[in-house]
Amino acid sequence: MPPVDRNNPVRAESSASRMSLMEFMREFPNDAACLDWLWRSRVSEDGEHADCTKCERGRRFHKLTEHPAWSCDTCGHHVHPTAGTIFHKSSTSLQLWFYAMYLMASTRCGVSAKHLERELGVTYKTAWRMANLIRNQLMTQDGDEPLSGDVEVDETAGGGKTRASDTRKGRQHVIAKMSRRPTIWGAVERGGRVRVQVVKSRGTIDVEGPIFEYVLPTSMIFTDEWKGYSERVGSNYIGHRRIRHEDKVYVSGDVHTQTIDGFFGNVKNGIRGNYHAVSSKWLQGYLNEYAWRYNRRDEPARILDELLLRAAVVR
Ligand SMILES: [Zn+2]
Repeated sequence: MPPVDRNNPVRAESSASRMSLMEFMREFPNDAACLDWLWRSRVSEDGEHADCTKCERGRRFHKLTEHPAWSCDTCGHHVHPTAGTIFHKSSTSLQLWFYAMYLMASTRCGVSAKHLERELGVTYKTAWRMANLIRNQLMTQDGDEPLSGDVEVDETAGGGKTRASDTRKGRQHVIAKMSRRPTIWGAVERGGRVRVQVVKSRGTIDVEGPIFEYVLPTSMIFTDEWKGYSERVGSNYIGHRRIRHEDKVYVSGDVHTQTIDGFFGNVKNGIRGNYHAVSSKWLQGYLNEYAWRYNRRDEPARILDELLLRAAVVR
């Protein structure tokens, strides 16, 4: 084994990360490197030439020394690579923005604004705003392909389901409190992607609607025995198989909802550990963030790239 060069650390082959902190620092050593990355990703492939909207043709551009912008050599038209992105008009360094995205892309269970505040050395307000924009503008589920194959569907209350013992004993205050919690609906392809969203209630319209919207009819649907899932599911899909949780049966052959329940567990632990509580207003954003990472769990090499590229195109 060759001796380790401490001044030139190399990521272990076995590490699942596509980018260790050292690699991140090498690729984005300062604000200028981040700005140059945006310029090349959004405007100029070779870093020198771009279409000038004023000249209405391809021109050579040069970097302005005083501004975070490039200028057309011929007509002097300015182009700001951050225009229209979440970084626009932010006084926070681009490198800190990129680092915040690095942290949010590489975590397994979420990063709190408090953690970002400490890690980036910015105010809590700035950290919260950054996390909020990254989560709600970039880590969205919009445009995701519909799910197919073996698809497990389940719903859960934001703070856990009403326990059978509370219902049996008629604990109205507990039942009333639980019923006010938002309902989270989720569907997952076994071995594939997840789709998750906040719905109004556990009623049939609210839990079946998203199935028809996000799952292809050529799929097999697995749910628990909740009566909210009606015969309509079976008649619109290849089949609908139910597991009987009430009889304390959780797995019967391939009939189970353990994949989606595992995802819900991860989300709930993450929210409890990092954010303590999430109001209904922001819950969908957190769900998007967890789904976004889950759907890219097998490609750690691309996860930060994809987030950065979204930042370069999303307005
Ligand atoms: Zn020009």
